[in-house]
Amino acid sequence: MENLVATGAGMPTRRRFFEQLAALGGMSLAVAGLEALGFGFGSARAAPPALGGGAKGKKVVVLGAGLAGMTAAYELDKAGYAVQVVEARAFAGGRCQTARNGFKHTDLAGYSQTCEFDEGHYINHGPWRIPYHHLSTLHYTKLFGVPLESFVNDNDAAYVYFEKGAGPLKGKPVRKGEIAADARGYTAELLAKCASKGNLDAPLSAEDRALFIDYVVHEGRLNPKDLSYKGTDGRGFAVHPGAGLDPGPGKPSVPYAFRDVLDSRAWYVLSSVTEYEQQRTMLQPVGGMDQIAKGFERHVGRLIRYSTKVEKISQGPDGVSVAVRDGAGQPSVITADYCICTIPLSVLRGVEMDASVGFRDAMADVSYAPVNKIGLQMKRRFWEEDHAIYGGHVYTDISGINSISLPSYGWQGQKGVVLGYYAFGSDAARISALPPKERAAFALAAGQKIFPQYQESFENAFSFCWHLADHNLGGWAEWSPEGRASAYPVLVGGEGRIYLAGEHMSYLGGWQAGAIESAWQQVERLHARVQQQA
Ligand SMILES: Cc1cc2nc3c(=O)[nH]c(=O)nc-3n(C[C@H](O)[C@H](O)[C@H](O)COP(=O)(O)OP(=O)(O)OC[C@H]3O[C@@H](n4cnc5c(N)ncnc54)[C@H](O)[C@@H]3O)c2cc1C
Repeated sequence: MENLVATGAGMPTRRRFFEQLAALGGMSLAVAGLEALGFGFGSARAAPPALGGGAKGKKVVVLGAGLAGMTAAYELDKAGYAVQVVEARAFAGGRCQTARNGFKHTDLAGYSQTCEFDEGHYINHGPWRIPYHHLSTLHYTKLFGVPLESFVNDNDAAYVYFEKGAGPLKGKPVRKGEIAADARGYTAELLAKCASKGNLDAPLSAEDRALFIDYVVHEGRLNPKDLSYKGTDGRGFAVHPGAGLDPGPGKPSVPYAFRDVLDSRAWYVLSSVTEYEQQRTMLQPVGGMDQIAKGFERHVGRLIRYSTKVEKISQGPDGVSVAVRDGAGQPSVITADYCICTIPLSVLRGVEMDASVGFRDAMADVSYAPVNKIGLQMKRRFWEEDHAIYGGHVYTDISGINSISLPSYGWQGQKGVVLGYYAFGSDAARISALPPKERAAFALAAGQKIFPQYQESFENAFSFCWHLADHNLGGWAEWSPEGRASAYPVLVGGEGRIYLAGEHMSYLGGWQAGAIESAWQQVERLHARVQQQA
């Protein structure tokens, strides 16, 4: 890329530069170029590949009707291929599921649940938020007319509850905004005072030092005269301002002592929205994440054989054949020219498949995350009415809870469904081993420590453990650096007439965008092969 800029006749214009990038590496390289120059908007790909040239009468069997499978089916069908999708579940969407009234699930521990939430209420027990830069996911929400609304991913009014820290804030719900203001304020005060005495190691000119002090004064809301932090109205008031003389201007809140803030460890959560995949405001489909799956289904549902499980994938010089069994136990064989397989590797490695030892070994080289969620229907939105918390997450260090999230739908309605825990790894495995009623009891006891209204407001629960979910056996693929270096490229390359797609075949693992973009990539490779062979 460096060369591209340097070798032209003088410096190319910015526009010319991106035209060159696009010509060389397609739109994805151009978008990556925009990213590098700070004009970026996220996903490596913003739109599906153009599959020109016709399908040459070829048939493709797509295994799995999650978002990767349905993306592949939609794009191939549009390009003229004969497409057959095989899906083990009775519904499409894969992990893109939403539990609402009547949704049934039996996990591999044998626990059966039917969701009893009131009409209009739901929990996204799989994907629940969309970053603004996941352009591939947003491509289809727009194309399929799936209405979106804001997902509050960060809320200064929400609590942090850490019971393993120390000091007076230990085991006390404190507003995230208070911790944020105080941690920033005191840190800024320290820096400003050091800088004003010339005690910083950084080689700053006198002018830079003055600007730096100005910056930290603003950053920490310090008193510019003595550079002290005494709190800020942004952290809230002890008595809120109002009308007349009483409450009139209100009473400022008193900041926590710096020592207490540090001791609490609550500052751990302040970096929660500073990662690439996490922003303060994200998006969610109105009515539940499965609206994306339903959008796809409106277009490719006619191509899907539901409740049909893949048992064996064979291939030869002329095509592939897939042995399947339907819900009634009837076996049959589907033949095609090519196969796009989106079955998660956690499941696929248990399926008989014509593949080399190296390919099969590569499939074994990734682990899948144990992860679970629980939705708790509350008869009253006490978090809004009594605590003024509208969406966002309550972060906690209670093992097995991790975070409690308040719904970003139905503001000021009567009821709501709270995400009672979102746990990973051994914590998730431990809680998932409990019967559903005990999982709910665990979540309620933990939430009660933060919200006194928790248990009395509870009506019913629905919990889901992805590592105990048939056809998934885990939340998402977790590649080790070694696996990424050795096994991942082998699998991305496919085997013979079999192409693998899904979130596990992307660097956007655990995101719908990863599933969609990997399908785009494999469909493009398959199509290029068909064009070459024609
Ligand atoms: C708890 C959780 C939270 C998440 N949060 C987010 C989020 O906030 N935002 C986001 O964008 N993404 C999120 N994700 C990730 C996102 O859900 C996935 O990356 C994406 O849905 C994966 O799509 P896929 O098509 O690759 O796989 P899947 O959706 O798993 O599709 C695979 C399909 O194959 C089918 N199948 C399996 N075995 C067989 C068989 N033998 N025969 C036939 N069919 C079979 C399955 O039933 C399934 O339909 C989350 C995931 C989880 C679990």
